[in-house]
Amino acid sequence: MIIDTHMHIYPDFLAPKAMSRIGGVSAAPTCTDGTMDGTLKMMDEQGVSFGLLLHIATEPRQQHNVNNFAAESMQNSNGRFYSFGSVHPDAEDAVDELYRIKELGLRGVKLHPYYQDFDMEGKNAVKVYETCRALGLPIAFHMGFDPVEPGVMRASPRVLSQLIFAMPDLTVIAAHMGGMGCSDEVGMYLCGKTVYIDTAYSAQPRASSPDAHRELLLAHDPSLILFGSDAPWSAPAAEWEYLKSLGLPEEWLPGIAYKNAARLLGIEAGLIDDCGK
Ligand SMILES: [Zn+2]
Repeated sequence: MIIDTHMHIYPDFLAPKAMSRIGGVSAAPTCTDGTMDGTLKMMDEQGVSFGLLLHIATEPRQQHNVNNFAAESMQNSNGRFYSFGSVHPDAEDAVDELYRIKELGLRGVKLHPYYQDFDMEGKNAVKVYETCRALGLPIAFHMGFDPVEPGVMRASPRVLSQLIFAMPDLTVIAAHMGGMGCSDEVGMYLCGKTVYIDTAYSAQPRASSPDAHRELLLAHDPSLILFGSDAPWSAPAAEWEYLKSLGLPEEWLPGIAYKNAARLLGIEAGLIDDCGK
């Protein structure tokens, strides 16, 4: 059984535009058309039972609609999707919106320092971290480099390690093996710390680095490793094959595949058993 903790979908009317805009930058073949139905179909084909959707509000004025869509996609998926919402740290009503995210039943918040163009150490961002901590909302951060701004580091593992140190009771997920294209820094600042690392987008040729990924995962707590694909930008089946090829201890794989995610998302054991495998 697989739970994919890093997926993206878009409202049907926006999907074609989002796919060509973001796909043009990432230049990778996509595994869905970006819609909810297309993504569920792909999940059935590739053996993914549940997906965690990481929505992103790229503009302050979008956050309300983004979170409504996040809630709808959870409600209309027959239990297959869980959603994180998003606030824009520079939105005037970011704190109020975090309360609404909690009320909507969204499972956490996604922050993307590139797409949202905010400073991870800025006071607006810190206000978001403090509110998420108070509300018990986990935060998933895009970490490391991003194809949208090659060579620019806006999501540094070193900065994240300071946040983890300052707010030990905030649940944090560091996406993309803790930091895309900066495994040394991940090893130095995040491995062994109380932070989830998701594996999203590691199999893609521009991110693949098996020796470095094996080394950093082996240095981390296996109960804090989450399987993610970054669909539609990378396919879950290919990402899972890549992860298996790293030669991690066999007994770690069920935790990475679904057990850690089920615990984080509060997916009932009955649902996990029903799906078997
Ligand atoms: Zn992503």
